[in-house]
Amino acid sequence: MPELPEAETVTRALERVLPGRKITGVMVRVPKLRTSLQPLADADLAGHVFTAVHRRGRYIILTMDDQRGLLLHLGMTGAVSVVPAIESPRHHEHVILKLDNGDSFRFEDPRRFGLLECHPLKTDGLPTVLDFLGPEPLTEDFCTEYFYQMAHRRHIAVKELLMDNTVVTGVGNIYATESLFMAGIRPIHRSDRLSRMECGRLVDAVKEILTRAIAAGGTTISDFRGVDGSEGNFNRELLIYGKVGEPCPHCGAILRTVKLGGRSSCYCPKCQK
Ligand SMILES: [Zn+2]
Repeated sequence: MPELPEAETVTRALERVLPGRKITGVMVRVPKLRTSLQPLADADLAGHVFTAVHRRGRYIILTMDDQRGLLLHLGMTGAVSVVPAIESPRHHEHVILKLDNGDSFRFEDPRRFGLLECHPLKTDGLPTVLDFLGPEPLTEDFCTEYFYQMAHRRHIAVKELLMDNTVVTGVGNIYATESLFMAGIRPIHRSDRLSRMECGRLVDAVKEILTRAIAAGGTTISDFRGVDGSEGNFNRELLIYGKVGEPCPHCGAILRTVKLGGRSSCYCPKCQK
């Protein structure tokens, strides 16, 4: 599932091609993705110009020239591309926006858990539907003291806390798993028993892992592709994600798994306390 680095990779790619482009036509080919596409079809997008592309958590906002924006979430299998409008639509390309330079923006999503909606934007450039999101992990708002306070308000597994978008936005299973390994903390460690020092290690690990993943263009686990169809390169840097039963890259102990909120979480029984 695409996480923050994948959304950032797509955002940066779209930033290079969308601003300045006018929408000349809208084709909606299925009734709904995660939500109905009818409002998008009815939103009178034609004639409007994209002015910017932003990311907030895993959401991408395609800003238009009328204080509205298209809110995009890749869901499980979503991918966007910008290709010549004359190319025939692929089977799962559910929304196609024709652009004034002969290209087209396409949203492809076989499993349809993605989202594409038109929203008014506030003065900060974001729609109100994203107000619930916690701080961005790569900003100073996500710091040791903040995370320590949040951790001690709750009595849940630290991995669940890390993956709660109202606590910090955009950290999913892959990067939570890797960050906890780097910080030496078990996924099931109770959040309210974390010391300040442990919170500090974890906050630093999240920032480092996400920064490296963005630099590598994200991680291709199953379906994620960048806008140009390329795969992310962070896979080869993953240390333990998806490696249950293999030896720990640090100490050689066999990596174990624990069930948390319906997902299996890989950890090293020696390196992670
Ligand atoms: Zn180990």
